[in-house]
Amino acid sequence: MPEPSTPTVVALTNLVTKLIQRITDRKSAAELREVQMMVNTLASENFGLQQKNLQMQTELAELQQVIARFKQQEADNDKKQMDTGENFRIRRGVKFRKNVATGQKWMPFCPNCDTILQVAEPPYSQHGLHCTKPKCGFRSSFPSSELEKVTAEIGD
Ligand SMILES: [Zn+2]
Repeated sequence: MPEPSTPTVVALTNLVTKLIQRITDRKSAAELREVQMMVNTLASENFGLQQKNLQMQTELAELQQVIARFKQQEADNDKKQMDTGENFRIRRGVKFRKNVATGQKWMPFCPNCDTILQVAEPPYSQHGLHCTKPKCGFRSSFPSSELEKVTAEIGD
């Protein structure tokens, strides 16, 4: 791969070449050729460092992307925990939950044992919502027919 020279390297090479042509003393000319070789070595090392720098910039960008993804995951997890955790309201003695599991809708749960409450269907909709867990026996103070109204009172 041809290594691109910096303006300084080009200027130095030209200067040394000019000096070599001008000098008649063999020993000085040989020393100048050594200088020329050193300039080439430095240019090569400089090119290597530039390549390394580019590579590190790429790796840094990749790391930054990983960090950004990680932060996003953390934010998502926090949100999920809020949804499945303490995101509930007590209305008229019934615990309403809204989360991923309830399809982001307020659903009635037993305030004693956290079981989802059974809604009484017509013609029994004047009965309260009741807990399906054996031995719990919780029943809501309001009739099943009023569930929609109570849910609407919660809002968001
Ligand atoms: Zn219960």
